[in-house]
Amino acid sequence: MFNLMSNCCSWVSKIQEPIRKVTILVVGLDKAGKTSSIRGIVDTGPTHSCIRNELRVENYLVTLLDAGGSPESRGTWRELYAEAHGIIFVVDSCDRQRMKEAREVLADLLKQPRVAGKPILVLANKQDKMNALVGSEMIEILSLEKLVNQSRSLCHIEPCSALMDLRRWSDRKTLRGLRWLLRAVCLDYPELCARVAQDSRRPLESRKREKKGKSGKIHRKTKTYLDTCLNFALSFLFCYLGLNVPI
Ligand code: GDP
Repeated sequence: MFNLMSNCCSWVSKIQEPIRKVTILVVGLDKAGKTSSIRGIVDTGPTHSCIRNELRVENYLVTLLDAGGSPESRGTWRELYAEAHGIIFVVDSCDRQRMKEAREVLADLLKQPRVAGKPILVLANKQDKMNALVGSEMIEILSLEKLVNQSRSLCHIEPCSALMDLRRWSDRKTLRGLRWLLRAVCLDYPELCARVAQDSRRPLESRKREKKGKSGKIHRKTKTYLDTCLNFALSFLFCYLGLNVPI
């Protein structure tokens, strides 16, 4: 009876929790299994042309942004950083030849000001394959601990197989990883929302211009300072030589 009561209470409190909108950016090298992972998570299955996939997980309305992973399309990721509350980085655990490239891409991603500090889930995908690296090997080979410490991001690695998750609908590792990410986002939700609102208001170009303006100002200030020093040195020299030349 007591169990029933407490279950009812937790059920009622869950219902009363507000619905939270969360946007997650899904990135990684091409062929790592990003689209397959999203298909494993989103029951309805996304269409190929659509990069926005929406689903409801508990009290979260989640938008998964599927970004292309080829070197040419990685440039478009930066346009999506602003609106993301968290990141999913998908790695092919069997592709040892491209592990260095994956680490470099991950390192660069975590250095981005609009990404640093946001929670990140690493999906160590394709675990169904014989030669897949296990979680601990992936942590080492990607220097994961060092990278996330530098960017101060909460991080979790989930070994998974998107292909297997597509076949079974219980105990999906991709979904388990997403649940962790949502909990991590929830810990910092007001701050992350404030960041998203602020970064989304300012387009990338204006930020670039701002930076340029700032560096221009610094350049001008340095130039004025150097001119003053030069004038001072010249007047000192002329005084020393007994000349009275106005500068
Ligand atoms: P994306 O380019 O990162 O979106 O990668 P895709 O989702 O298109 O997957 C690339 C290839 O890897 C496809 O042929 C998938 O069938 C395959 N693939 C994706 N996930 C898995 C997995 O968990 N196991 C295996 N064996 N193959 C996978």
